[in-house]
Amino acid sequence: MAENRTLLQVKELKKYFFIGDSLFKKNRQYLTAVDDVTFDIKKGETFGLVGESGCGKSTLGRCIIKLYEPTGGNIIFDGNDITNISEKEMMRYRKRIQMIFQDPYASLNTRMTVSEIIGEGIDTHNLTKGKERQERIHKLLKIVGLKHEHASRYPHEFSGGQRQRIGIARALAVEPDLVICDEPISALDVSIQAQVVNMLEDLQDNMGLTYLFIAHDLSMVKHISDRIGVMYLGKLMEICESKELYKNPIHPYTQALLSSIPIPDPRLNKVSKRIILHGDVKSPINPPEGCRFHSRCRFCEKICTEVTPKLIEVETNHFVACHLVK
Ligand code: SF4
Repeated sequence: MAENRTLLQVKELKKYFFIGDSLFKKNRQYLTAVDDVTFDIKKGETFGLVGESGCGKSTLGRCIIKLYEPTGGNIIFDGNDITNISEKEMMRYRKRIQMIFQDPYASLNTRMTVSEIIGEGIDTHNLTKGKERQERIHKLLKIVGLKHEHASRYPHEFSGGQRQRIGIARALAVEPDLVICDEPISALDVSIQAQVVNMLEDLQDNMGLTYLFIAHDLSMVKHISDRIGVMYLGKLMEICESKELYKNPIHPYTQALLSSIPIPDPRLNKVSKRIILHGDVKSPINPPEGCRFHSRCRFCEKICTEVTPKLIEVETNHFVACHLVK
């Protein structure tokens, strides 16, 4: 249940990657992965962040946990600006902000046992030792639906779904406040996806967790998110409550994304109209002014190619970045 207290504020965040080898600043090229992104997350809330592959959503998650240094803007966690703090100071916040990665196998050290993987954070942050440490690991395994005999096994002995459960147990071992879930179900079988989402929801209720839930598809965040932000080429295009987004999508890109979700009832699926996006995705390298979506937008006008639209509140708590929406 979301509280009124803001846990995370992201203000005008930018992450540019310098590419090429020119010595002259004016000739340098930048890949603008995240560009002027602003949003906040309340304590206990799940904020879904959605966009196609390469839109910058994972980079944004990695900036928040400081795996990447932001190029500009601010990250304020629980009232403290952590944008430019030292690695030593960040250790304190690493305990409070954890991440679950998309590929559970790649994110787990294959030479470590499950017990060592889960216990690593406990040791780094000096939380507990000896018998109590082992009991805590067994309790975490139980919480994520694994058995205590799994503690001595290695990641390759598990299925994809079980490995993701190990990744979740590792994140929870340090009792974080915010968990950045970076496409945690994308690599899993459809039958396992719902189980993992249900487990994350139960954990949130029982442990008071706050989630930033990153996904490439709106159908994946529908049930878990309280609010959703839709991202395109480094920019936020629309933010509103989850129910409102599915009922009343305003941005042309959100409308196209929603229209591509298959409807389980074949009769309804036949009559629902899919919006096909034509045109090329613009390059994130030195992008020109204008709406990032204009090359694929069916409503594009002259102004869209010249002026970048601002994210404005068009209805209560419903923000959209589009020149045609006032
Ligand atoms: Fe389409 Fe223009 Fe709106 Fe961008 S600003 S979404 S190009 S209508």
